[in-house]
Amino acid sequence: MKRDLRLILAAFLLAALLLSGCSGNSHSSHTFVYWDILDTVCSVQVYLTPEQEDDGYEDWIHERLLSYHRLFDAYNGYEGLNNVYTINQNAGVAPVPVEEDLYEVIRFSVENMEETGGNTNIVLGSVTQIWKAFMNSVAEEEERARKAAGEGIDSVPTTAFPSEEELEEAAKHTDISGLLLDEEARTVYLSDPEMRLDVGAVAKGYIAEKLADDLAEAGIESACINLGGNIKILGKRLAGDGRDYYTSAIENPRYDPDSEDPEESSRYLNDMILRLNDQDCMVTSGNYERFVDIGGIRYSHLIDPATGWPAQEMSSVTILAQDSGLADYLSTALFMVDVDTGLEILSHYEGVEACWVTSDYEVHFSPGFEDRLAQ
Ligand code: ADP
Ligand code: MG
Repeated sequence: MKRDLRLILAAFLLAALLLSGCSGNSHSSHTFVYWDILDTVCSVQVYLTPEQEDDGYEDWIHERLLSYHRLFDAYNGYEGLNNVYTINQNAGVAPVPVEEDLYEVIRFSVENMEETGGNTNIVLGSVTQIWKAFMNSVAEEEERARKAAGEGIDSVPTTAFPSEEELEEAAKHTDISGLLLDEEARTVYLSDPEMRLDVGAVAKGYIAEKLADDLAEAGIESACINLGGNIKILGKRLAGDGRDYYTSAIENPRYDPDSEDPEESSRYLNDMILRLNDQDCMVTSGNYERFVDIGGIRYSHLIDPATGWPAQEMSSVTILAQDSGLADYLSTALFMVDVDTGLEILSHYEGVEACWVTSDYEVHFSPGFEDRLAQ
């Protein structure tokens, strides 16, 4: 009898051990990739319990992202929704009542302008659209040349640069005081008919932040959100392999998969694995994603409001923070200025770190950045 009891107990303990062994590792990792959001590639890695696996999270996350995408869309209007496009359509016409998320991004961006020297200016749209058109036209020209001559051509684009007059004229419509916000009515008004809102510098970071909240509310414990390089972490990594934090690395702006030069052949900056814990985020603005090279000079999509031309100081700026909307906003602001000015801007913010890769490929860190490296 005693022996039986011991046996039963032993079996019970074994079962409990096995079960607990399972529950310590009961989450499985799923990575969902979306190609139709925010003009970039978005991926969301989540850890799900077996019960959650059939809950349709892949589609649910897609729906969430699509709804943010529509709200921040500057090119299309949607029935029954006031978005960035609607605000621009109503420049000089009427204030537009908007949803809280859009209002919040705009208010936040305006409020942080002083601390950041006006370097991230969300009403720079009249200027940024000139450069977007220029880059598209260069890209089309290159595509045509490639088709005509086959691979490997290296022709110099003949598309004319925007003229100084055109840029100066556009710059007249970028004074933030022309953007009028009414907190009570939650309306946004571009009082200058030529002014254009462009929230491209902050939207992806803000959406990553909101999506992390959405996931937590929907019962997801652990996720790594990456919206075109805007990374936001929710919870601890649950792989069950003893490493409970996520990691990321800083991309090498010089990366060229075809090169044998060690400075170029590595996709990431060497020895720079960063440890990312719950709520951490990492955002990079770089001149190696959307750009054209002409005459040895790189023209990217990051425009210096002070000159009206693509900024030349940096190759990339990476920000570590806990709020990815702020990180995105700051990554753009710091891209426009030298490292010392960037450090001065950072002094207004607590717990925010930066890594700069200058246009000469020198790497600089803010004082606490290296503490965040995994090794
Ligand atoms: P990415 O979109 O590559 O992640 P950013 O977050 O830095 O990079 O945002 C760049 C986008 O922001 C540009 O495509 C443009 O629409 C807009 N933009 C460019 N320069 C500025 C600026 N100085 N201030 C505000 N927005 C800018
Ligand atoms: Mg940004």
